[in-house]
Amino acid sequence: MPLIIITGFPTSGKTTRAKQLHSYLSERIQQAVATTPTAPQAKYRLHLISDQTLSISRSVYDLSPATPAAHVRSANASEKDARATIYGATKRAMTSDRDIVILDGLNYIKGWRYQLYCEAKNMRTPSCVLQIGCSKERAKSVNEERLRRRDQQQNPEGENGEKRQEEEVDEEGPYEPENWENLVFRHEEPNPMTRWDSPLFTLIWEDDEEQAKQVFSNMWETIAGESRKVVKPNQATVQRSRDAGGDYLYILDRETQDIVKKVLDQQGDDGGDDVRIPKGNGKDGDDLVVELPAGKKVGLPQLQRLRRAYIGLHRGGIGLEGVRNMGPERIRETFVVYLNDAFEKDA
Ligand code: ADP
Ligand code: MG
Repeated sequence: MPLIIITGFPTSGKTTRAKQLHSYLSERIQQAVATTPTAPQAKYRLHLISDQTLSISRSVYDLSPATPAAHVRSANASEKDARATIYGATKRAMTSDRDIVILDGLNYIKGWRYQLYCEAKNMRTPSCVLQIGCSKERAKSVNEERLRRRDQQQNPEGENGEKRQEEEVDEEGPYEPENWENLVFRHEEPNPMTRWDSPLFTLIWEDDEEQAKQVFSNMWETIAGESRKVVKPNQATVQRSRDAGGDYLYILDRETQDIVKKVLDQQGDDGGDDVRIPKGNGKDGDDLVVELPAGKKVGLPQLQRLRRAYIGLHRGGIGLEGVRNMGPERIRETFVVYLNDAFEKDA
């Protein structure tokens, strides 16, 4: 059931680490069986899900009109379809508490990672993010090397043609250069301050086996160890059928609008205030607190920009329409968290 979301630039070494993690976890699971004579079978089952295991082509990420399918549908639609496939496979793999899912992929949209986090939470299982840190230059050179090999393969008379082809076993194809640049541009770094990107583990290209093992071991503790946290689904994500569809977008709009209005009404002249916002309509006591940045007032344009970004994250516009709807209180709560995150980053 635990979910491990891998994220990083294209050709940054994600699949390499995913495979290392997979063999590390297999070993730990085997060890656990060997040292627990009372348990006749392994407690966990491992799943590795990636674009490759689902036969999703790199071209689905391509936004350029040169993509073969693009004259039929927008290229972005093919990416949404791919995401729906990945989401379905991940959800199916998470059905019992014996399953550990490694999701190897770009996973570059924070709203997408948020949806996966909610899905895991809903299944009462822990999730974490493994960030593959790699400079843009290095990742790019890996892709360029693959492009070069592909061209050489198409034109085998080139220098070292034979030798190159031997090395090619088990290698994935390159991204088209523009597609690659675009994906790097669109990449949204995980932020360990947010619930959905935490706990956040990081491995960089230079990390050796020893270092990788240390990180993998910490991950095992989080998802399967004694100290594993109890995960409770939150009310708002469980009751999803009640305010589905058009209603949801309306409520999303109304609640966030109300908070923007309250912030504008209540802030003082020099900023830095705490604005208290009731959790729900007509409820008092348990207020939410928006912490405004010190020394400056926040204006309507800034708040509207943040509100639109928040709505973009939560409207389900990433190919998962209707998968998850929050109730009004949950919307207010998460929007306030979102605002505080943004103001803190600004400071
Ligand atoms: P991604 O899954 O992000 O596209 P891959 O894992 O397929 O990236 O790695 C791309 C290439 O870089 C592969 O040829 C792989 O052998 C190499 N590579 C990946 N990570 C490392 C590393 N930490 N050190 C050295 N080479 C690496
Ligand atoms: Mg890969």
